[in-house]
This record gives sequence, C-alpha cells and structure tokens, in this order.
Amino acid sequence: MKAEMVAPHETPGDMSPEDFRRYGHQIVDWIAEYLSHPERYPILSQNQPGDVKSALPSSAPERGESFEAMLADLDRVIVPGVTHWNNPAFFAYFPSSGSGPGILGELLTAAFNVNAMLWRTSPSATELEEVTLDWLRQMIGLSNDFEGVIYDTASISTLCAIAAAREAVPDLRVREDGLAGAKLRIYASEHVHSSIDRSAITLGIGQSALRKIPCDSEYRMEPRSLELAIADDRAHGWQPFCVVATTGTTSSASIDPVAAIADICEREGVWLHVDAAYGGFAAVVPEMRWILEGADRADSLVINPHKSLFVPLDLSVLYCKQMDVLRSAFSLVPEYLRSDEGDDVRNFMDYGPQLGRRFRALKLWFVMRYFGIEGLRERISNQLAMAREFAGWIEQSDDFELMAPVSLGLVCFRARPHSIDEQAERSLKENPKVPHWSRDVEYVDNYLDILNEGLLEEVNRRGKVFLSHTKLNEAFTLRLAIGNIRTTREHVKLAWDELNDVLGSRN
Ligand SMILES: *Cc1c(COP(=O)(O)O)cnc(C)c1O
Repeated sequence: MKAEMVAPHETPGDMSPEDFRRYGHQIVDWIAEYLSHPERYPILSQNQPGDVKSALPSSAPERGESFEAMLADLDRVIVPGVTHWNNPAFFAYFPSSGSGPGILGELLTAAFNVNAMLWRTSPSATELEEVTLDWLRQMIGLSNDFEGVIYDTASISTLCAIAAAREAVPDLRVREDGLAGAKLRIYASEHVHSSIDRSAITLGIGQSALRKIPCDSEYRMEPRSLELAIADDRAHGWQPFCVVATTGTTSSASIDPVAAIADICEREGVWLHVDAAYGGFAAVVPEMRWILEGADRADSLVINPHKSLFVPLDLSVLYCKQMDVLRSAFSLVPEYLRSDEGDDVRNFMDYGPQLGRRFRALKLWFVMRYFGIEGLRERISNQLAMAREFAGWIEQSDDFELMAPVSLGLVCFRARPHSIDEQAERSLKENPKVPHWSRDVEYVDNYLDILNEGLLEEVNRRGKVFLSHTKLNEAFTLRLAIGNIRTTREHVKLAWDELNDVLGSRN
C-alpha cells in the first residue's frame, strides 16, 4: 500500500480545464440533439428488469477510463433504460420537463456546488431563494403574508408543514417529550396524495390519526363531513390540529373547496395546509386564479415548480405564514454552525430536517427570467387548451367517455365502445325476460376494466406515447396529463390516434 501513496507535491487533481471544455461541449451537443429528436427513443423504456445491471461490471474500474468510453456506454447501456420524461408525448403521472434554461441552471448549480445551509455559506443562494420565491408568490396571486422555502419534493414540503402545524399546538412540547399521550388528528379528503399518509407515519403521529373525509361526485372534499368529523373527534378526546386541502388531486385533478374548508379551520383553530403541488401552476394564468380561491387564508401551501413550471427535478416550494413556527419545529444550531449575522439573515438549514441544501433557486430564476411571466402564461394557457381539446374529442367519440371534469391539464377517461351498449339493447329486445351479462352492471364494469387495462398496456408498449392510469369509483381509468414544455397539438393528436387505433384493432 505504502508504495502506491502519492507524495503531496504530486497532487493528482481534477480533470484538466482543456478536457473539461472539450467533453463539456460534447455533452451539451449530445443534450441538444437528444432534446430535438425525441422520436428516436421509445418513451417508456423497453428494458426488462436487470438489463442495466447485467450490462455493467460488478465492481468499479481499477484505472480511470476514457471519457469516450463513458459516453459510448451512455448510449449503449443507459439511454435504453431511460423512460423519457422529457419526451413531448409523455402524458403519464404528472409530467415534469427540464426546459433549456432549467437544464443550464442545474449545470451551474453543480459547478458552484455551494451548500446553502447558512446565509454565510453562500449569500447568493439564500437571497436568490428569497427573491425568486417572492416572484413566484406574486405570479400565483398569493398574499404577501406568505414567505417561502425550497425543499426537494412536495412530500418533504408537506411533512415540514405538518411538523409546523404540530409545533403550533399549545402545550404539546413534542420537541422535548415526543408524542407520548397525544391524540392528534389530521384531516384530508379520500383523494389526498399518499405523501400525507407518509408524513403522518414519519412524524410519529400515526396513519390512524389521518381521518379521510368523503368526497362529492366530482371528487372534492365535503366541508360538512369535515365539520362532523372534527366534532365527533373532539367528543371522543382527539385533538384536531391540521387539515390538508388539495387543489389538483393526483388521481383526477379535482379541487377541494378551500374557502369553505378555511371557514371551518378558522372556527376550529386548526392549521390549514393547501396541497397545490400540481394545481398551483395554473394560477399563473389570471383566468385560472380561482383555483387558489381561499388559499390566502391557509397557514401553508405547497407548489411544485418541478411539475408544471418547466423546472427540472427537484424543486418544491413551501409557503408559510408563520415562518417562526416552522423554524421552531426544526431549528437546532450546534456550536460549529453558529454565525453572527443574527436576525438580519435567513439560515435555511433552520427550516427542515436537512442540513445541507442545494442551490436550487438558480434554475427557477433562469426559467422565470428566460420565459418571463408572459411566456410562462402563454405556455400554461396553451397546455390547458390542449387538455380541453382532447376532452372534447372524448366527448364527441362513441367509443370513449370522460371519467372526471377537466379543469387543469389532466384528462381522466376510459374506452367504452358503443358496441357494448348496442349489444345490451339488442339482447333486451330479443329476450326481455332473460337476464343477460350486458345488463349486469358489475359484469360490464369488469369487462371495461379489462379492456382499458389492455388498451393502456398496448398503447404504452408501442412506445410513441406514454399514459398512466388510476381508479375512480373503482373503475380502471386512463389519465392523460399535459405538462411538458415541448408538447404540441400534434403530440396530443398522436395519443388520440394511438388510442383509437389500438381500440379499433381489438374490436
Ligand atoms: C405530485 C404530488 C405530490 C408529491 O410530489 P413530490 O414532489 O413527488 O413529493 C403531492 N401532492 C400532490 C397533489 C401531487 O400531485
């Protein structure tokens, strides 16, 4: 071992500046080519489990390799195993697109490599975060009672918000004593995102403390049921402390009546957190501001610029009215991190469980400056219009039906071939007394589930477009979500053609 040690005056150092420039240019060229020819790749990776692992050596190379060899393996091994979220015909889940300025911002974040834990560990990172989040706050029309902090994901933003809500409970002393003996209750609709369950689990409140409130026929929380649930809980010794309302649920993009829920929260003295992780982006368009109606009365709100604001993963924003409460839920300053700027500056490490923080605000700043508010509005309006147009095609078709109202960029639908109803009618006419499978609702639903599951699988297997699914009222439902910055009407039309083509070939 000793013989191989390197003497200090021979410090091996980094890649040379010349090589960095050369390979850096190659990679930027590679990315530009990749983004401008998405049709070269099937969107959903066609890999089998283990394909990537078996194409790679089982241990790291003993000696450094050439960059050319690495780039060759990128094409050979990595790209086939990538599901292409940046492809404009990616309509699954909620899309996320890395826009040009966002990707370049990420590159600079890596280059600076600052840790934005304290103001002094990089004043620009801290102050740019404050400035860009105030810009974003104004863009979505949220009142200036709110201040923001960036986390990696909405799951963590919400976890921190619920920790703040818990911190706000008088006399709980959870930091000192834990949750022993506390019977806390948190409320959200049946359609709430699983991150709320996870927060309850992680924060030790327990999943059984999350009470799910029934929804109306459009999948929105029923305020009256919330009121009754809180009263019932109080009568049984529970302590209601937080309600999560969602604007843009994950399954169907339904929008809870935030104003009516805020009335209840104010009356009951419980923390209101609004999950606008998905839906918040639409409020950038003035005609869509209504989706955040009532949100000004919340205590906290999460929005994900990495979902529909063209910022590459990851970047989630939590807005909070009482930043001091959020701070007191988490702040703990060891001696080696003490600094003397006092209250004049914000030390973002105090606002969550993490210490180290990336300089994420840079990519948000790039995206907002490059496109401008007007450019962002134009792009978002265009996406909402494309979703409405697709929904219109469904409504006019004899073979598909909508499964939920469409107000954002998400369309929930399923195939329901007209032949199924014709068949039912015919059998009724021919044999009015004999029960027939097509009059059996359960049988038809079952049949439609199987049909739609097969349809989705085949459409995705073809690789030109990628859609996902959910269940609404137990029925297998297809989801087409528009949110990629490069998606055009042609891509949406392609999805429609693929669906009709596959369905036609099955009938
Ligand atoms: C996507 C989503 C989340 C979770 O977002 P992450 O950033 O992936 O944690 C939470 N709530 C809603 C409504 C979402 O759509």
